Amino acid sequence: MSHTLSDQQRERRDADVNQAEIARLEEAVREDLELAGNLVEVWNSRLAAGRELFFSPTIRAAILAHTPILAFVCPACQVTGSVDLRKLDRHPRASITSLIPSLSCQRCVPNAPFAKLTGLRGDPEDRQERNIHWEAHAIVQAARSATIRRQRDQE
Ligand SMILES: [Zn+2]
Repeated sequence: MSHTLSDQQRERRDADVNQAEIARLEEAVREDLELAGNLVEVWNSRLAAGRELFFSPTIRAAILAHTPILAFVCPACQVTGSVDLRKLDRHPRASITSLIPSLSCQRCVPNAPFAKLTGLRGDPEDRQERNIHWEAHAIVQAARSATIRRQRDQE
């Protein structure tokens, strides 16, 4: 079947017809972004204070909180390292503690102890002021555009 509407036209139509649904989704994403930020803040502060953690953020939560840099230290030789969670090929719902075995110290192999996580941090390159409203809008729009493209390909 021919594609009589451009993707842009489809997106505009979606934005018009589904205004209430889109507003509801953006509100839910704003809540998710705020919760992710709060969870990482609690986790970081309990970790820094040496308190029991009770939970571990997921990779996706750390990324949504704009703290994608996971820092760690080797308990044996004290070498520190960090990994950018955005660059890992891992399931976004995996907890960051599930990464510990893969972060073990290369210098201390074969007797490397598990790496000790020391915190989630922001990317020093990312100096933009956060705007939760804009971020939520962009996340919902990207998801809807992907859906529109999938539907168009099935026509
Ligand atoms: Zn080591």
